[in-house]
Amino acid sequence: MNHTKVAVIGSLNMDIVVETPRHPQVGETLLGDRVRFIPGGKGANQAVAAARLGAKALMIGAVGDDAFGQELLSALERDGVDVTGVKRLSGTATGIASIYVSEGDNSIVAVPGANGQVQPEDIDRNAEKLEQADIVLLQLETPVETALYAARKAKELGKTVVLNPAPAQPLPEELFRCADFVTPNRTELSGYTGIAADGNTLGAAMRRLQELGAANVVTTLGAGGSAYLDENGEVRLAMGHPVPVVDTTGAGDCFNAALAVSIAQGRSLREAVEYAALASALAVTKFGAQAGMPTEEEVRLFAA
Ligand code: ADP
Repeated sequence: MNHTKVAVIGSLNMDIVVETPRHPQVGETLLGDRVRFIPGGKGANQAVAAARLGAKALMIGAVGDDAFGQELLSALERDGVDVTGVKRLSGTATGIASIYVSEGDNSIVAVPGANGQVQPEDIDRNAEKLEQADIVLLQLETPVETALYAARKAKELGKTVVLNPAPAQPLPEELFRCADFVTPNRTELSGYTGIAADGNTLGAAMRRLQELGAANVVTTLGAGGSAYLDENGEVRLAMGHPVPVVDTTGAGDCFNAALAVSIAQGRSLREAVEYAALASALAVTKFGAQAGMPTEEEVRLFAA
C-alpha cells in the first residue's frame, strides 16, 4: 500500500451521450435511440484513475448546485477521491458535454459552466492540499490563469508538476516552464509547436516543446503507444499494447494519471511511461472514461 498523494486541479463534467439514427438538421426534432449520463471531465477522470492506481487523489475544481454536480461528486467519492477541494456554486450549472453519436460519428457541444469559475483563490483556499501532495496534475478545461497560478504555487512548494495541455489553446510560455512533465497528444503537440508530430518530425516537435520550457516531454500516440525524450533529447518510443478496443474515451486521462502516480512513487521516466502504457491500454478495453479506469491490481496482473 503506498500513500502517494496526487493533487488534481481541473474539470468535472457530466457527459450526456445521445445515440441517434442520424444527426438532426437545423430546426428538426428527432427521436433518439438512447441517452446515457456518464461522469467525465479530464480533471475528474484523472483523479479517479489516480485513486484506482493506489494514490490518494485530492481534487480541486467546481460544480454547480444541481443534480449533476451532486452525482459527479458522489462518483468521485465512491472511488475514494477527496472532494473537499471541489466548490459547489449556486446559480451556476455543472459543466456538461452534450454528445450526439450516430454510426460512429460524434458531434459535441461542451458547456464549461462551473469549470470556468475555478479561480486562483481556489488554489489559495486549498493550499494545504498542494502542500500535502507529492505531485500536481493539471489540464486545461479550467481557466488557464488558474492553471498557471497553481503551477507557480506548486513550484514554490517544491512539488513536481505534470501538465496535460489539453484541450490545445494559446498558453503563456511560463506555464511550460513551470511544468516538469508536459504530456500532449499528437494533435496538441503540433498545435503548440507548429511542427507536424508524425514520422520524421515527431522528435523535432517534441524538442521544440522543450525549447518552449517543458523540462520533460511525453507524447501519446493512440494505439501506437507513446514517446518521450531521453536526457540526450532523443525520442524513445514505448509501444502500445494490443488490446480489444471498447471505448477510447479517457485513455489519455488514464495515461496522465498513471504517469503522475508512477513518477511520484520515484520511478524513472521510462518506467513511468511503460506503466502508463499498460494502464491506458486496459482503460480502452472497458466502456466509460471513469468506469473504465483500471485498478493497481489489474495493471499488475496485465503486466505479469
Ligand atoms: P488522447 O485520448 O488524449 O488523445 P491517445 O489517444 O494518444 O490520447 O491515448 C493515450 C494512451 O492510451 C496512448 O498513449 C496509449 O498508451 C493508450 N491507447 C489509446 N488507444 C489505444 C489502443 N487502441 N490500444 C492500446 N492502447 C491505446
